[in-house]
Amino acid sequence: AGAAAAPPPRQCKLDPKSELRVEVPPDAPLRVRLVAGTAEIFGTELPPEGWVPIPPRSKIAIFTWHGATLELDGVTESEYPSEETPMVVYVNTHAILDARRARARAAAAQGGDLEASQGPRVIVVGPTDSGKSTLCKMLLSWAAKLGWKPTYVDLDIGQGSITIPGCISATPIEKPIDIVDGIPLEMPLVYFYGHPTPSINPDVYKVLMKGLAKTLERQFSGNAESRAAGMVINTMGWVEGLGYELLLNAIETFKANVVLVLGQEKLWKMLKDAVQSKPNIDVVKLQKSEGVVLRNSKHRQKTRSFRIKEYFYGIANDLAPHSNIVNFSDISVYRIGGGHQAPRSALPIGAEPVADPTRLVAVNISTDMIHTVLAISYAKEPDEIISSNVAGFIHVTDVDIQRKKLTYIAPCPGDLPSRLLIASSLTWYEA
Ligand code: ATP
Repeated sequence: AGAAAAPPPRQCKLDPKSELRVEVPPDAPLRVRLVAGTAEIFGTELPPEGWVPIPPRSKIAIFTWHGATLELDGVTESEYPSEETPMVVYVNTHAILDARRARARAAAAQGGDLEASQGPRVIVVGPTDSGKSTLCKMLLSWAAKLGWKPTYVDLDIGQGSITIPGCISATPIEKPIDIVDGIPLEMPLVYFYGHPTPSINPDVYKVLMKGLAKTLERQFSGNAESRAAGMVINTMGWVEGLGYELLLNAIETFKANVVLVLGQEKLWKMLKDAVQSKPNIDVVKLQKSEGVVLRNSKHRQKTRSFRIKEYFYGIANDLAPHSNIVNFSDISVYRIGGGHQAPRSALPIGAEPVADPTRLVAVNISTDMIHTVLAISYAKEPDEIISSNVAGFIHVTDVDIQRKKLTYIAPCPGDLPSRLLIASSLTWYEA
């Protein structure tokens, strides 16, 4: 009987304050059209006319404040309406943040100090699949719709939404996030960690957070508009042990003043107690949506792989990456944090070996690099690599030891913008 035929286009009427939850399969297209009323997908309004293609693998909710009629055309893995959503609570949170932005802008206009003119720095925390990335998108899109240009900071190296996994990054959001294209990628500020989990080298993760925060701080001090709009910071779903410690570190490093805790009472209580002594931080507990789709570790691994593919091939598989060859002698590859400590024999008598977790280690190019991602550093000198952001990524497709040549694909043609590359444990296998 083969695959089920696509169902005919169908209409769905939504009551006010309800949403239609839809899961799109990996290989079949779906499009959605607003027939009547108004509706939004994670904070971005559906256009009043025309079909909107929904990217494969998306799991979305089409929410309406005042009621809507939708038309769906294509295959879904599931589609069902729900009236139980935390949207009212989320939009109220947005209203409070909006008032703080207005206050910061007013203070700036009156020549207020950096403190008074700083808008909300919101950090969203919670266990995996609590809807953190989704809440971030909504808060950003609602703010952008009102004309603010908040900065999105993504610290989630496992399931980040700005660029490929293994990175922490930031980008200004100047208009509601596009339903099809996602977060705008014109000028993201990206720091490369190179692994999908922070436990491999938490010290490097912390140093990179510091670097990103410092750069943003500098940008904010010269830009009252971004400063007043503030930040929305997405975090990892690892909230215990080291994960918890890194969350506290992130709150401090980015000087977050609003902590939104999704769906976990215990985490909320712990964070509230932890920041008690700091009068300027509000720790707020928010209900999570039942619509958030649970993803197991295999699914997460798959999504990571797709994110890497998307970087080179485009979301709709519409880009063609460029293949290129470089001589080993034209590039230098480094790894941040070798973990290798100096041998005792190399130390002065009596000194204990200390591993420097942020040490830079030169890496020999080998066939082990095939299928891995390398980042292109903006650093001028190797010792600047850890404090520099990256220009982009290449994917190694072949290493010829005999001829000393490395073949890679890159999203753009032409020579590499820098000869300094950073190795990673991120892999992607072309199917
Ligand atoms: P992680 O910790 O893994 O990064 P998260 O807490 O950030 O997860 P999200 O990425 O926001 O969780 O949500 C998980 C998935 O559920 C996403 O694919 C998202 O689009 C989907 N989702 C979120 N809210 C809804 C909803 N109300 N209806 C349907 N799908 C939803």
